[in-house]
Amino acid sequence: MADVFSAVQVGDEVVCRDCLKMEEMVSAQRGITDSYSADDVRETEYICSRCNKKIEPFEIKF
Ligand SMILES: [Zn+2]
Repeated sequence: MADVFSAVQVGDEVVCRDCLKMEEMVSAQRGITDSYSADDVRETEYICSRCNKKIEPFEIKF
């Protein structure tokens, strides 16, 4: 199972999962780009650079 992240740093931008391109998602899953966990986005409010929505914590619950 890949690492779960709520948002990814793309250059100077913070981008939510919904707005990531396929290759950006893959880079984040491989740990190439910095990503933000659900806890990170709970502690600090981030706004997605592409859709301008507040980034919500993303978690997979078992
Ligand atoms: Zn977005």
